[in-house]
Amino acid sequence: MNGLFENTKIAFASRSDAELKKSLLLLKLISSSFLNKAGIAVIKFLLTLRLPINFLMRRTMFDHFCGGTTLEESQAVVQKLNADNIDSCLNYSIEGINLEAGFDRTLEEILRTIEASSPELGSSFAVFKPTGYGSTKLFEKVSRKEPLTSDEVEAWKRVKQRFHLSCEKAIERNLKLLIDAEESWIQPALDDLLEEMMATYNQDQVVVYATVQLYLKERLPYLKKLIESSRKAGYQIGIKLVRGAYLEKETNRSLEHNVPNPLCPSKEATDINFDKGLELLLGHLDHAAVFIGSHNEASTLKALKQMKNTGIPENHPRVCFAHLFKMSDNISYNLSNKGYNVVKYLPFGPVNKVIPYLIRRAEENTSVANQTTREIELIKTELKRRKQA
Ligand SMILES: Cc1cc2nc3c(=O)[nH]c(=O)nc-3n(C[C@H](O)[C@H](O)[C@H](O)COP(=O)(O)OP(=O)(O)OC[C@H]3O[C@@H](n4cnc5c(N)ncnc54)[C@H](O)[C@@H]3O)c2cc1C
Repeated sequence: MNGLFENTKIAFASRSDAELKKSLLLLKLISSSFLNKAGIAVIKFLLTLRLPINFLMRRTMFDHFCGGTTLEESQAVVQKLNADNIDSCLNYSIEGINLEAGFDRTLEEILRTIEASSPELGSSFAVFKPTGYGSTKLFEKVSRKEPLTSDEVEAWKRVKQRFHLSCEKAIERNLKLLIDAEESWIQPALDDLLEEMMATYNQDQVVVYATVQLYLKERLPYLKKLIESSRKAGYQIGIKLVRGAYLEKETNRSLEHNVPNPLCPSKEATDINFDKGLELLLGHLDHAAVFIGSHNEASTLKALKQMKNTGIPENHPRVCFAHLFKMSDNISYNLSNKGYNVVKYLPFGPVNKVIPYLIRRAEENTSVANQTTREIELIKTELKRRKQA
């Protein structure tokens, strides 16, 4: 297995020299802490002035990290990935919605995305963000088990209805549906909701996947309990396993509210937690399906080792390795080349609506700086290899 992810010829076979050079430039820009912070500040400032920055974004971050502005545009990328045996999960990436009309529009868009996806077309997964379907405030209040006003009771019913409609549509199209995880303070409401969805829709097969963020200390015990309780209740579980993307927000909030920080105390502790969670799920594939959302090479190699040692075939339908579009292609393409199931998260949406997602991606890149450095090195290696070939 050692050296599996070093093969840059396989990793970048689908990208031209010009594309690689463009990626290199952009990655260098966002890996520089100063330029990254300055760039984000400039974009936010231009946005407050309502200046048209779509062109700038389209030519840079958008083109790199997104599939297109519309579903139709993104299908071309889905086909390209499919030709390399890589599955796609079209991700309608608008964030920061907080009105009922906005939640309904998001639902429409998600249903349209599910309708346009199918395993035959090379997109077997669909995804949505819980706060696309209901306000963070409402999720928070339900999480705290506070009494709701009559309007809130109605709003919560509509949230549940949007979840159900999405699950039903996914079943109709023979897709699997991933539900993202966000901040820890809305997680209790989401746990209840998703356990209800899994009990309803994951009877004969795994359709619904909940996301478990293992940078949160209490999530490994939760995962163990969920395996037990779902076995008892007679339904199967789908789990998207991630480390977690809201590191700074979680820390700031715990300081502001003077409550214990829910995060693992260090990156190393998160890594241990993540690997234990992954090991646990790979040991329960009779009952659970796992979607591994991580660019971490060491964790991926551990999973491959466990699969090999316990006789889990490379293409086991309940194990998927997932990465963001144009990230960790060295893992994606080399895994796919060896017959493992690989999925790319493919964000799409109107440029102006996707900007908050892209800003979050750029901000996240400063906390996963090693990863970007690794990408830069791999692209340089490939460009050098091509020159010498
Ligand atoms: C397909 C896919 C889907 C995703 N979906 C979601 C989602 O629904 N919700 C979500 O929150 N995230 C999601 N993510 C993002 C994910 O949680 C990580 O932020 C990102 O993938 C980086 O983690 P890593 O395992 O890839 O790599 P690594 O670079 O090994 O890990 C970086 C991560 O380690 C953790 N970490 C870093 N420093 C510390 C520290 N000091 N203390 C504790 N922990 C630390 C953080 O979680 C950080 O993001 C998704 C990622 C992918 C690839």
